[in-house]
Amino acid sequence: MTGGHILLVLADARLANSLDRNVLRPADFQVTWLDSVHAAENLVSELRPDVVIVGDQLVDGPFHRLCQALRESWPALPVILFPEEADESWGLKALRNGCVDCLLPPLRPDDVLAAVERARESSRIWRRWSEQEAQRTTNRLRNQLDELDALVRVGRSVTSNLELDKVLTTIVEAAVQLTGAEEGNLLLVEEASGELYMRAARNFQEDFVRTFRLPIEDTLAGQVIQSGLPILVDETTPQKIKTAYLVHTLIYVPLMVGKRAIGVLGVDNRTGGRIFHDHHLTLLSALADYAAIAIENARLYTRTDLDRRQLEAVLTQIEDAVIVFDLDDQLLLCNQVAIKTFNLVEADLVGRHRSDLEAYPELSDVLKQVEGEGSGPIEVQLEDRCVLNVQSTVIPEVGRAVTFQEITHFKELDRIKSEFVSTVSHDLRSPLTAIMGYVGLLDRAGPLNEIQQEYINRVQTSAEAITELIDKLLDLGRIEAGFDKQFERVSIPEIINQIVDGLRSHYTEKAQSLELDFQDSLPLVQGNPLRLRQLFENLLSNAIKYTPAAGAIGVQARAEGGQIIIRVRDTGVGIPPADQPYIFDKLYRASNVPEESSGTGLGLSIVKSIVESHRGRIWADSTLGEGTTFTVVLPTMSR
Ligand code: ADP
Repeated sequence: MTGGHILLVLADARLANSLDRNVLRPADFQVTWLDSVHAAENLVSELRPDVVIVGDQLVDGPFHRLCQALRESWPALPVILFPEEADESWGLKALRNGCVDCLLPPLRPDDVLAAVERARESSRIWRRWSEQEAQRTTNRLRNQLDELDALVRVGRSVTSNLELDKVLTTIVEAAVQLTGAEEGNLLLVEEASGELYMRAARNFQEDFVRTFRLPIEDTLAGQVIQSGLPILVDETTPQKIKTAYLVHTLIYVPLMVGKRAIGVLGVDNRTGGRIFHDHHLTLLSALADYAAIAIENARLYTRTDLDRRQLEAVLTQIEDAVIVFDLDDQLLLCNQVAIKTFNLVEADLVGRHRSDLEAYPELSDVLKQVEGEGSGPIEVQLEDRCVLNVQSTVIPEVGRAVTFQEITHFKELDRIKSEFVSTVSHDLRSPLTAIMGYVGLLDRAGPLNEIQQEYINRVQTSAEAITELIDKLLDLGRIEAGFDKQFERVSIPEIINQIVDGLRSHYTEKAQSLELDFQDSLPLVQGNPLRLRQLFENLLSNAIKYTPAAGAIGVQARAEGGQIIIRVRDTGVGIPPADQPYIFDKLYRASNVPEESSGTGLGLSIVKSIVESHRGRIWADSTLGEGTTFTVVLPTMSR
């Protein structure tokens, strides 16, 4: 066969011309002649010759450089070596440099044409093979793409579908399709019986699926569950190989959740002929992973849903109002009590931003108050006289829950109790004054012996203690009733300095240090100077009293956002956590107070009442054995 394109790369123009004219052209070949490695390298992609004939002498370099370049870029292009002055050894050189042939003298035209034809044939064979190989690779890639596509589809259905039945059926169908199996099934372990049942199937009879039960012991599927490893069975004769039905070939892969196998995904062939490969096993394992994820997702969803419903039930049944905001301050939850308390319109709420609650001024006011400084609960009175104890709690990763506990009834009880205590104290005051008076007169009525004098002293001490108690109770009654309304401009540092002067002998006696740290030019407070003095006197004398000798006491005052924040800290005995909620209650003393320490348990109640009558807030932070800090926040006067 002739007709084709030959590239001659020869340094000798005469030789090239002779080959072209006398041999190749008459045989119908188109010929291009080049004389350098460089030109041949550059032009070969453009010329696309069928065969290259290369001489050993080239103008710009050795022939083997060109051979190497052509082999690397055009491995299917046959190269024939044509040495000018040749002997037998050139045959070997041609072979070593990847040439398909070598033209040796005596050179006859027929020999040249036969060599060219052989080279073209080898090129044709090489090309056919590479086309077939490309086709094979394309088919393999197409199959892999189909498999990948099927896996992606299954993956998508796992993430987008909460209907477990649908997802598992899709998975079994994909398993059958991808492995070319006759049937497929998905077995799960039944918690109650410990047996395997068929959760999804393809090409099995419905009745068979419904009644199918397989023990774990001594079965193939059970073995996969127990070992957590897949199984590939390839039998030449059909067997009831511990599967409960006859099969030739079978793959079982486990459904793993963590380190535990919860089921098995299987495909099989009942008739012979088809075989499964490791590749099918890999595909099935990927599908089994999807199935395990879907089952676990469904389980978690059911549990979360149950938890959510339980939580909802708790929040609905609870007697306190509860409102929960997410991290973006959007309303997440609001129970019925909250809706009733603040007359909210339910449909209006969930998903709304906190700032949208301005439409409910009462609620929005309370929320603003509770978000102010400090984390403690606050008391608020609504327009209908209902009193609420409001607490805002940060819930990590969720947001913030605000609870509103109705304490109207307790406030009323407290008021009645205070009134009663106040009346009784008042009524006790007069007879007690009489007792004190007459006890004082006793020694004037005649000489007293030593024992009598001792008894009288004891009566006097006890009567004084009772008088102090009654005075404090009466004081408390007056503050709570709001009788001290003579407010004036008060400088907190001035008051504290006076108190510290007055208490100097007390703390120096115990070798305690007392450090004052006031921010420059603190704003004034609108308040009752006597009561404010009483407030800080109580806090400071407690700090001295409950701090052992050589301890440290400090008072710090700072202004912040229209408020003055005063902290009284000590390195004293601290307050046990169990007592901390009650220290502001009337007559309450913590369990770690030494028996000999004097006190009525009324000081902090008075302090709290004074703070509240000044529209302030107070709380204590204490670590047992390390010390206590009382923080008082009072509104300041605008300058
Ligand atoms: P008391 O007359 O007992 O001091 P208070 O009402 O002033 O009564 O205080 C109530 C209780 O709070 C005290 O009995 C004590 O247990 C505790 N307490 C108050 N201040 C301090 C403090 N600075 N350090 C430790 N405990 C304190």
